[in-house]
Amino acid sequence: MIKLSKASKMPCRSWSLEALTTCPASKNKDGSLVDACKGCYATTGNYRFPNVKAPRVHNQEDWKRKDWASDMIAELDNDRYFRWFDSGDMYDLRLAKKILEVAKATPHCNHWLPTRMHKFAKFSKVINELESLPNVVVRKSSDSVTGGLIKGTNTSTIIPTIDNATKGMVVCKAYERDGKCGTCRSCWDKSVSVIAYPAHGKSMAKVIKMIQVG
Ligand code: SF4
Repeated sequence: MIKLSKASKMPCRSWSLEALTTCPASKNKDGSLVDACKGCYATTGNYRFPNVKAPRVHNQEDWKRKDWASDMIAELDNDRYFRWFDSGDMYDLRLAKKILEVAKATPHCNHWLPTRMHKFAKFSKVINELESLPNVVVRKSSDSVTGGLIKGTNTSTIIPTIDNATKGMVVCKAYERDGKCGTCRSCWDKSVSVIAYPAHGKSMAKVIKMIQVG
Protein backbone atom coordinates (compact mmCIF):
# COMPACT_ATOMS: atom_id res chain seq x y z
CA MET A 1 0.00 0.00 0.00
CA ILE A 2 1.36 3.40 -1.00
CA LYS A 3 1.83 5.70 1.99
CA LEU A 4 2.57 9.34 1.26
CA SER A 5 2.99 12.13 3.74
CA LYS A 6 2.12 15.80 3.51
CA ALA A 7 4.02 18.15 5.76
CA SER A 8 1.90 21.24 6.42
CA LYS A 9 4.80 23.46 5.37
CA MET A 10 5.29 21.79 1.97
CA PRO A 11 3.16 22.51 -1.08
CA CYS A 12 2.99 18.86 -2.08
CA ARG A 13 3.00 15.24 -0.98
CA SER A 14 6.10 13.21 -0.32
CA TRP A 15 7.27 9.59 -0.22
CA SER A 16 9.82 9.10 2.53
CA LEU A 17 11.93 6.61 4.43
CA GLU A 18 13.49 6.65 7.88
CA ALA A 19 16.46 8.99 8.16
CA LEU A 20 19.94 7.55 8.75
CA THR A 21 18.96 3.85 8.37
CA THR A 22 18.37 4.53 4.67
CA CYS A 23 21.13 7.11 4.31
CA PRO A 24 24.37 5.23 3.52
CA ALA A 25 25.91 8.46 2.25
CA SER A 26 25.39 10.14 5.62
CA LYS A 27 28.61 8.59 6.91
CA ASN A 28 32.27 9.41 6.49
CA LYS A 29 34.74 6.59 5.80
CA ASP A 30 35.43 6.29 9.54
CA GLY A 31 31.72 5.76 10.24
CA SER A 32 31.09 9.20 11.74
CA LEU A 33 28.20 11.28 10.42
CA VAL A 34 28.93 14.00 7.88
CA ASP A 35 28.30 17.50 9.23
CA ALA A 36 24.98 18.05 7.44
CA CYS A 37 23.55 14.81 8.85
CA LYS A 38 24.71 15.46 12.43
CA GLY A 39 21.98 18.06 12.82
CA CYS A 40 19.40 16.34 10.59
CA TYR A 41 15.87 17.62 11.30
CA ALA A 42 14.43 14.20 10.42
CA THR A 43 15.97 12.55 13.49
CA THR A 44 14.37 14.90 16.01
CA GLY A 45 11.02 16.49 16.96
CA ASN A 46 7.93 15.17 15.17
CA TYR A 47 9.96 12.58 13.30
CA ARG A 48 10.25 10.59 16.54
CA PHE A 49 6.46 10.17 16.82
CA PRO A 50 5.14 6.67 16.06
CA ASN A 51 2.61 7.97 13.50
CA VAL A 52 5.42 9.69 11.59
CA LYS A 53 7.85 6.78 11.87
CA ALA A 54 5.34 4.08 10.89
CA PRO A 55 4.78 5.03 7.21
CA ARG A 56 8.53 5.46 6.75
CA VAL A 57 9.24 1.99 8.14
CA HIS A 58 6.38 0.58 6.01
CA ASN A 59 7.79 2.23 2.86
CA GLN A 60 11.17 0.60 3.33
CA GLU A 61 9.56 -2.78 2.62
CA ASP A 62 6.73 -1.59 0.40
CA TRP A 63 8.84 -0.36 -2.53
CA LYS A 64 10.06 -3.93 -3.07
CA ARG A 65 6.57 -5.04 -4.19
CA LYS A 66 6.11 -5.95 -7.85
CA ASP A 67 3.29 -3.41 -8.32
CA TRP A 68 4.84 -0.58 -6.32
CA ALA A 69 5.87 1.55 -9.34
CA SER A 70 2.49 1.18 -11.09
CA ASP A 71 0.70 1.98 -7.82
CA MET A 72 2.85 5.11 -7.38
CA ILE A 73 2.12 6.17 -10.97
CA ALA A 74 -1.63 5.83 -10.34
CA GLU A 75 -1.30 7.69 -7.01
CA LEU A 76 0.39 10.68 -8.66
CA ASP A 77 -2.30 11.06 -11.32
CA ASN A 78 -3.36 14.49 -10.07
CA ASP A 79 -0.16 15.76 -8.45
CA ARG A 80 1.67 18.64 -10.13
CA TYR A 81 4.54 18.75 -7.63
CA PHE A 82 6.06 15.90 -5.67
CA ARG A 83 8.94 15.62 -3.25
CA TRP A 84 10.90 12.43 -2.79
CA PHE A 85 12.55 11.88 0.60
CA ASP A 86 11.32 14.44 3.05
CA SER A 87 13.46 12.05 5.12
CA GLY A 88 15.71 9.16 4.13
CA ASP A 89 17.46 8.62 0.81
CA MET A 90 17.39 6.58 -2.43
CA TYR A 91 19.57 3.97 -0.73
CA ASP A 92 19.05 1.01 -3.09
CA LEU A 93 19.74 0.92 -6.84
CA ARG A 94 16.55 -1.10 -7.44
CA LEU A 95 14.53 1.64 -5.71
CA ALA A 96 16.29 4.30 -7.81
CA LYS A 97 15.31 2.43 -11.00
CA LYS A 98 11.69 2.22 -9.84
CA ILE A 99 11.67 5.97 -9.09
CA LEU A 100 12.94 6.55 -12.64
CA GLU A 101 10.05 4.45 -13.94
CA VAL A 102 7.57 6.51 -11.89
CA ALA A 103 9.04 9.84 -13.02
CA LYS A 104 9.02 8.80 -16.69
CA ALA A 105 5.36 7.80 -16.48
CA THR A 106 4.24 11.02 -14.73
CA PRO A 107 5.43 13.85 -17.02
CA HIS A 108 2.59 16.07 -15.69
CA CYS A 109 4.24 16.04 -12.24
CA ASN A 110 7.39 17.92 -11.21
CA HIS A 111 9.62 15.73 -9.07
CA TRP A 112 12.20 17.10 -6.61
CA LEU A 113 14.62 14.44 -5.47
CA PRO A 114 17.23 15.53 -2.91
CA THR A 115 19.97 12.95 -2.43
CA ARG A 116 23.51 12.16 -1.34
CA MET A 117 23.65 8.94 -3.38
CA HIS A 118 25.70 10.73 -6.05
CA LYS A 119 28.68 9.77 -3.86
CA PHE A 120 28.37 6.18 -5.10
CA ALA A 121 29.52 5.52 -8.67
CA LYS A 122 26.99 2.76 -9.25
CA PHE A 123 24.18 5.36 -9.00
CA SER A 124 25.64 7.63 -11.72
CA LYS A 125 23.74 6.08 -14.61
CA VAL A 126 20.30 6.19 -13.02
CA ILE A 127 20.90 9.71 -11.63
CA ASN A 128 21.93 10.87 -15.11
CA GLU A 129 18.76 9.35 -16.56
CA LEU A 130 16.63 11.01 -13.90
CA GLU A 131 18.35 14.36 -14.54
CA SER A 132 17.68 14.05 -18.28
CA LEU A 133 13.91 14.10 -17.67
CA PRO A 134 12.32 17.57 -17.99
CA ASN A 135 10.07 16.97 -14.96
CA VAL A 136 12.80 15.88 -12.52
CA VAL A 137 15.33 17.84 -10.48
CA VAL A 138 17.85 15.64 -8.71
CA ARG A 139 19.25 18.05 -6.15
CA LYS A 140 22.57 16.75 -4.89
CA SER A 141 23.16 17.67 -1.26
CA SER A 142 26.49 18.94 0.01
CA ASP A 143 27.71 17.57 3.35
CA SER A 144 28.74 21.07 4.39
CA VAL A 145 26.94 23.22 6.96
CA THR A 146 29.09 26.23 6.16
CA GLY A 147 28.13 26.75 2.51
CA GLY A 148 30.57 24.30 0.92
CA LEU A 149 29.61 23.51 -2.65
CA ILE A 150 29.74 20.30 -4.65
CA LYS A 151 29.88 19.70 -8.39
CA GLY A 152 26.64 19.24 -10.28
CA THR A 153 23.97 21.07 -12.21
CA ASN A 154 21.47 21.21 -9.35
CA THR A 155 22.86 21.12 -5.81
CA SER A 156 22.15 22.37 -2.32
CA THR A 157 24.12 23.36 0.74
CA ILE A 158 23.50 24.57 4.30
CA ILE A 159 24.69 28.01 5.39
CA PRO A 160 24.99 29.16 9.03
CA THR A 161 23.08 32.41 8.35
CA ILE A 162 21.81 34.27 5.30
CA ASP A 163 24.89 36.51 5.53
CA ASN A 164 26.97 33.49 4.47
CA ALA A 165 25.23 33.21 1.09
CA THR A 166 27.58 33.73 -1.82
CA LYS A 167 27.04 34.78 -5.43
CA GLY A 168 24.95 32.35 -7.43
CA MET A 169 23.18 30.80 -4.44
CA VAL A 170 19.42 31.05 -4.15
CA VAL A 171 18.65 31.33 -0.45
CA CYS A 172 15.63 29.38 0.81
CA LYS A 173 13.34 32.00 2.36
CA ALA A 174 11.01 29.56 4.07
CA TYR A 175 12.20 31.01 7.40
CA GLU A 176 10.37 34.23 6.48
CA ARG A 177 7.12 32.28 6.08
CA ASP A 178 7.02 30.17 9.23
CA GLY A 179 8.96 27.43 7.42
CA LYS A 180 6.51 27.28 4.50
CA CYS A 181 7.40 27.25 0.82
CA GLY A 182 4.47 29.50 -0.09
CA THR A 183 4.64 30.08 -3.82
CA CYS A 184 8.38 29.33 -4.07
CA ARG A 185 9.27 26.28 -6.18
CA SER A 186 13.03 26.90 -6.46
CA CYS A 187 13.91 23.37 -5.36
CA TRP A 188 12.01 22.02 -8.41
CA ASP A 189 13.56 24.57 -10.77
CA LYS A 190 16.27 23.22 -13.06
CA SER A 191 17.51 26.75 -13.72
CA VAL A 192 18.38 27.15 -10.02
CA SER A 193 21.88 25.78 -9.68
CA VAL A 194 22.46 26.02 -5.91
CA ILE A 195 19.91 26.33 -3.12
CA ALA A 196 21.32 27.50 0.23
CA TYR A 197 19.28 26.47 3.25
CA PRO A 198 19.95 28.66 6.31
CA ALA A 199 20.63 26.35 9.26
CA HIS A 200 17.77 25.88 11.67
CA GLY A 201 17.16 23.88 14.81
CA LYS A 202 19.17 23.45 18.00
CA SER A 203 21.09 20.36 16.81
CA MET A 204 22.31 22.11 13.69
CA ALA A 205 23.28 25.22 15.69
CA LYS A 206 25.41 22.98 17.93
CA VAL A 207 27.14 21.34 14.94
CA ILE A 208 27.96 24.72 13.41
CA LYS A 209 29.21 26.09 16.72
CA MET A 210 31.57 23.13 17.11
CA ILE A 211 32.94 23.62 13.60
CA GLN A 212 33.38 27.36 14.07
CA VAL A 213 35.12 26.91 17.44
CA GLY A 214 37.30 24.30 15.74
S1 SF4 B 1 13.85 27.04 -1.68
FE1 SF4 B 1 11.64 27.40 -2.00
S2 SF4 B 1 10.84 25.40 -2.68
FE2 SF4 B 1 12.84 25.00 -1.72
S3 SF4 B 1 12.34 24.50 0.43
FE3 SF4 B 1 12.82 26.71 0.32
S4 SF4 B 1 10.84 27.72 0.07
FE4 SF4 B 1 10.54 25.52 -0.44
